[in-house]
Amino acid sequence: MGLREYQRKRNFGRTPEPAAASPAATDGRAGAKAKPAAPQSLAQATTPAGAFVVQKHDASRLHYDFRLELDGVLKSWAVPKGPCLDPTEKRLAVQTEDHPLEYTEFEGVIPEGSYGGGTMMVWDLGRWSPLGDAHRDYLAGKLKFRLEGQKLRGAWMLVRMPGNGAKGKANWLLFKERDSEARPLAEGDILAEMPFSASTGRSLDEIAAGKPAR
Ligand code: MN
Repeated sequence: MGLREYQRKRNFGRTPEPAAASPAATDGRAGAKAKPAAPQSLAQATTPAGAFVVQKHDASRLHYDFRLELDGVLKSWAVPKGPCLDPTEKRLAVQTEDHPLEYTEFEGVIPEGSYGGGTMMVWDLGRWSPLGDAHRDYLAGKLKFRLEGQKLRGAWMLVRMPGNGAKGKANWLLFKERDSEARPLAEGDILAEMPFSASTGRSLDEIAAGKPAR
């Protein structure tokens, strides 16, 4: 997909979101890095690993944006109900446009009237690694991976549902694999238990008010 759609949808004179800096990433190719890559990002193409971020986005409708670094961009999905540690809770994840790697650090307020207007929180942040060949599995629509975040850990799956939406807006399902990090929803909802920013400790209201990091 590359970053052209990301750029086309935004007016960087209005939104504080990062502009896509890397020409190579704009072409959708790995290569020029906007920031120094971690050692895993330099591994051979068959076994990439990289950053992941989950952003809590208080837009017209509150949702969570789930993003995995792959080939120099952040592959992105909007998850209306957010991730869940219960493997039986398969959450709809609507694929959205690729985002630049710098977006993992973005927390702030997108002005009303702009694309995605509303408050954005870095809800979780860390590294992900594929359990298998990430490129092949992503294209096949069945991506199994591990997360090492502050909140989300262990094995997860993203599975593309048959029958794509328009223009790459495919519907996927995001769910937890069964492992020691899994937990029944009846025993608690991590979204409610851990509502604050993983990078600044702030609530959505505090971010919206421009309060400093805790
Ligand atoms: Mn969003």
